[in-house]
Amino acid sequence: MEINDLKLTQKRQLICERFGLKSAEDILNYYPLRYEQYSPVHYRDFKTGERVTFQAELLTYPATSRFSKGQVTRFRVLYEEEELKITIFNHPWLRALSMGQKLVIVGNYEGNNAITAINVYTKELNEIIGITPIYSTLSGITQNEIRKLIATVLAKCPLNDQLPNVFKQRHQLVDYAKAIHDIHFPNDKKALSYALARLKYEEFLNFYLSLKLINGQQSANSKKPKTFSKEALAAFIETLGFELTSEQKKAVSEIISDIQSAKPMYRLLQGDVGCGKTVVALIALYANYLAGYKGVMMAPTEILASQHYQSMTKAFPNLRILLLTSSISKLKELKQRIADGAWDMIVGTHSLFSDDVQLADLGLIITDEQHRFGVKHRRKLKEKALTADFLSMSATPIPRTLASSIYGDLAISSIESLPLGRKGCLTKLIETEESALEAVKLALNQGRQVYIIAAAIEKNPDSDVNNVNTLYERYKEYLPDYKIAKLHGRMSYEETQVTMTAFQSGEIVLLVATTVVEVGVNVPNATVMVIYDAERFGLSQLHQLRGRIQRGDQRGLCLLMSDSSADESLKRLKILEKSNDGFAIAYEDLKLRGPGDILGTRQSGLPTLVLGNLFEDDRFIVAAKADAEELYNSADPECRAYCAKMSARCQID
Ligand code: ADP
Ligand code: MG
Repeated sequence: MEINDLKLTQKRQLICERFGLKSAEDILNYYPLRYEQYSPVHYRDFKTGERVTFQAELLTYPATSRFSKGQVTRFRVLYEEEELKITIFNHPWLRALSMGQKLVIVGNYEGNNAITAINVYTKELNEIIGITPIYSTLSGITQNEIRKLIATVLAKCPLNDQLPNVFKQRHQLVDYAKAIHDIHFPNDKKALSYALARLKYEEFLNFYLSLKLINGQQSANSKKPKTFSKEALAAFIETLGFELTSEQKKAVSEIISDIQSAKPMYRLLQGDVGCGKTVVALIALYANYLAGYKGVMMAPTEILASQHYQSMTKAFPNLRILLLTSSISKLKELKQRIADGAWDMIVGTHSLFSDDVQLADLGLIITDEQHRFGVKHRRKLKEKALTADFLSMSATPIPRTLASSIYGDLAISSIESLPLGRKGCLTKLIETEESALEAVKLALNQGRQVYIIAAAIEKNPDSDVNNVNTLYERYKEYLPDYKIAKLHGRMSYEETQVTMTAFQSGEIVLLVATTVVEVGVNVPNATVMVIYDAERFGLSQLHQLRGRIQRGDQRGLCLLMSDSSADESLKRLKILEKSNDGFAIAYEDLKLRGPGDILGTRQSGLPTLVLGNLFEDDRFIVAAKADAEELYNSADPECRAYCAKMSARCQID
């Protein structure tokens, strides 16, 4: 049901707007953040430092005074013949209480008959005790307003259960309507735990079912095994000029054996930035070429595509390699050439998906940073060659056990160590621009290059986020003697190329950019990076960004600037100060933000886990994964209908 059909009061509509809730479903899925349980405690059972809840009588008028961080209100109450001193912060309206009034007090017992209250209610005790859901809220919106909004919607909106009966019975799940009611208004712990079980199970089921639907019948097809000369491949590896690490070798041999098998490869190659995935991809492309097939490499940005193009033309000087992006000139001729088959390998961006690009004899598809593409895009490319081998590369590596529960049937090769001789990067949290500026000047004086990263391109009147345009002007003033430039996604292909080339050659020494530089940009002389409003980025994204300053022989310096005072953000950023291990960081990121954000599954239409936790809910994960498999293959009409609905939700066609 749409918000408009709910006929909410203006105030409630405003609440929905501020929370970004767009439908009745959104509102009902706005689950409590946590629950508090209140049960009354006798005075004789009060223990210092513990939570107490009791009903008492007001003995003295509340007196409120100001202090630096707000207001404090003090008064005395009578409870079980004891006089208790109550202190509460930022509840000035309590001044309006009248003498002798009955109050329910929830707070911490500090000893000596003193209590620091968390809440003071004028309701009856029996209205307070029990389990109280606590919602995450915004300033000016009270818990009560949220509760009332949800109660209103619950009353107006009929909820029918979609889950096929067979699974409901198997796990003895409560009905959907009851689960939604009880998660917001639980009568007791038992009702809450049944509601949670039902909703978590369903989230995981939908998650794994969507994965199956998205990945489709990858493994159902068969292909002609590829054969090629091992000597020729070994000769190519010789030309690289370095010894592959043992993990690279392992990844290569896994890929080779997939290529030689009768089933299309469907493999994820994951490893930290700079661990040498691209080299492995080149080897795979060459093996595929030796077997007589064409190959494509798909990159999420034009910058990355053109970098791959450069490495490929360098690695294979005698092969016909094309670069296809939407902004390339002579697009028509290029497409004709592709249709004529006069090529061996193509590197491209989204343009590779377009229907007028015809890819014959395609044997291998590689996608770099695949999570940045929508599911639809990936599928479209795969449909161009159903029997082609498929290799996906990701620099957001996640622990293998977790990867297999997230990616389902994708085979995984992991490169967990970096080539020897890498110096890594020092990461520091800073609060002000001055300290950053000092480091920037020092690096420039030493002939090094610098990245300045901002979360926005231009000024937005509604937010105080630093933006590329303003920072660019500011740094020009700070550093009048240096040549600096901007780089962001709204520049034309030519502008981008000119800027990148000038940065690569060292003519431009400082780049004020958005996250367009996140993947692939390779300028070894750039050793300092300053990231403004660092709390706005994901951990894995920040880790990728700082990968840009770890390409050379000198240790990089990454400064994370944040004036956020939120403990959570600082705690998150501190992880980067401590660790330079992409696997560990992605793990923390997943824990903190869930898979939707980190894997880019939001854009791919994969349902997000709100209640479910990939780290804690083993019980549900195991059941839901098996059930998703069963549901996917079931002929039962109820199951088929469910799959169809899910599939529409993931926007799979
Ligand atoms: P990724 O794609 O994983 O970010 P790349 O393949 O671009 O990493 O490798 C980063 C750099 O390390 C490249 O310059 C590459 O030539 C180099 N490199 C890769 N493997 C090795 C190795 N085994 N020994 C030394 N250098 C390597
Ligand atoms: Mg790479």
